[in-house]
Amino acid sequence: MVVAYQASTGQQKIDNPYQIALAQYDRAAKHLNFEESIKEYLKYPQREFTVNFPVRRDNGQVEMFTGYRVHHSTVLGPSKGGLRYSLAVDLDEVRALAMWMTWKCALVGLPYGGAKGGVVVEPKSLTTAELERLTRRYASELLPLISPHSDIPAPDMGTNAQVMAWIMDTYSMTVGYSVPAIVTGKPINIGGSQGRNEATGRGVIIIMEEALQQLNMYPANDVRVAIQGFGNVGSHAAAYAHSLGYKIVAASDVTGGVYSANGLDIDKVRAYVQETGGVRGYPEADYITNEELITCDCDVLVPAAMEGQLTERNAPHVRAKLIVEGANGPTTPGADDVFNDRGIHVVPDILANAGGVVVSYFEWVQDLQSFFWDVDEVYRQLERIMRKSYYATENTAEAHNVDMRTAAQLTAIQRVADAVKTRGFYP
Ligand code: GLU
Repeated sequence: MVVAYQASTGQQKIDNPYQIALAQYDRAAKHLNFEESIKEYLKYPQREFTVNFPVRRDNGQVEMFTGYRVHHSTVLGPSKGGLRYSLAVDLDEVRALAMWMTWKCALVGLPYGGAKGGVVVEPKSLTTAELERLTRRYASELLPLISPHSDIPAPDMGTNAQVMAWIMDTYSMTVGYSVPAIVTGKPINIGGSQGRNEATGRGVIIIMEEALQQLNMYPANDVRVAIQGFGNVGSHAAAYAHSLGYKIVAASDVTGGVYSANGLDIDKVRAYVQETGGVRGYPEADYITNEELITCDCDVLVPAAMEGQLTERNAPHVRAKLIVEGANGPTTPGADDVFNDRGIHVVPDILANAGGVVVSYFEWVQDLQSFFWDVDEVYRQLERIMRKSYYATENTAEAHNVDMRTAAQLTAIQRVADAVKTRGFYP
C-alpha cells in the first residue's frame, strides 16, 4: 500500500474525499497503457503545506487557526485552484480537491497543474475585520508557495472576490508593486475578469445542454431541473438555466430546500436569499430537505453544494435521468456504480464545473497582458472550451466503452502522463 492511500487521520473513512479521488483515479488509470512508475507518481500530491497562525479577534483575544495548501501537480504549468474556508476542511479534503484540479485543468486544456487550499474556519462566525485579518495572515503564510508563475489561488466554498482582493493586496504590499495575476476571481476594478463570477454556473448549464442533446431531452421548458446548493455555483446555474427557459423545480442551501412543480421564479428566489440569507421560508414553494431534493421528481439533478452528497444509500432513489456535477466530488464511487447500473447519465465535476477555472485562466492571461476583454468575448471563449471538452469526453467514453467520469479522468490523466514522459524524471 502506498503512503498516498493513508488518510491523514490514519483511519480509512469510507467517504473520505481523498479515498474517493484515488478510487476514481484507479478506475480510470487501468484503461491506460503507460508505465507503472508514472501511474504511481501521479497518485501523490507534489507538496503539502500546513500552517498554524494567530488571528486577533475584535475583542482583543488571539485565536489559533490552521490552514493548508496542497500542490498536486505542476507538470503542465503553475498550479491552480481555489481556497476554501470551512470547518470541514482537512488535509485529505484539500488533497482530493487539488488532485481534481489537476485533472480538470488537463481535461479542458489549460496550461496549469492542480492545487487547493483551505482554512479550518466558519467564515460566518467572523466579523469582516476578523475575516480580513485571517485572510491577510494566511496569505502571508502562503508567500513561499504562491506567485503568478508558480501557484495562483482563486475563490472556492466560503471565499469570494473580496477575499481575493485582500490576498492580492497583501502579496502586492509585500513585493512592493501591484500584482493582479497573483489570484483570480478578484473584483473587476482591480484586474478581475468580466464573467468570472458567473462562469462556473454558466459552464454547468452549457454542459447540461450538451448532455440533454445527447440524451434527446428537449425542449428546454419540458426539462425540470433540481439544484442542490445555492451559492456561487448553484445560484448562477439556476439563473442562467432559468433565462434559457428551463424549469427549476427545486433549489436548496444549508437552510433547507424549496420545491415547486410549476418551476421557481429564480429572480424572486435570489432576491429572497439576498434578503434573508437562505432559501428556507421562500413563500411560493413547498419546503423540502436537502436529502429530499436529491430524490425529488425532476429530469436533471445538479449537485452544487459539496462532496459526498450522492451515496450508495440515496442513489437508488434518485429520479433524475441526468446528473450534472456543479460541486467537486459530490458522487461516491459506490453511487457511480448505482447510476451506471440504472442508466443515469452522470457528467462529472472535472468537466461540468470547469467553467470557473477556464475564466480564471482568461483572467490570469488578461492580467499578465494588461489587456482586458469584454464579457461577450469571455462567454464566447468559455462556450468554445466547454463544448469542445464535452465532445472530447463523449468520444473517449464511446471509444473505451466507459462512463463519462472514467472518460474525463482518463483523458486528463493521459495528458498529464504524456507530459511527464516528455519532460522525463528529474534528475
Ligand atoms: N474553486 C474553483 C474550482 O474548484 C475554481 C478554481 C480556480 O479558478 O482556480 O474549480
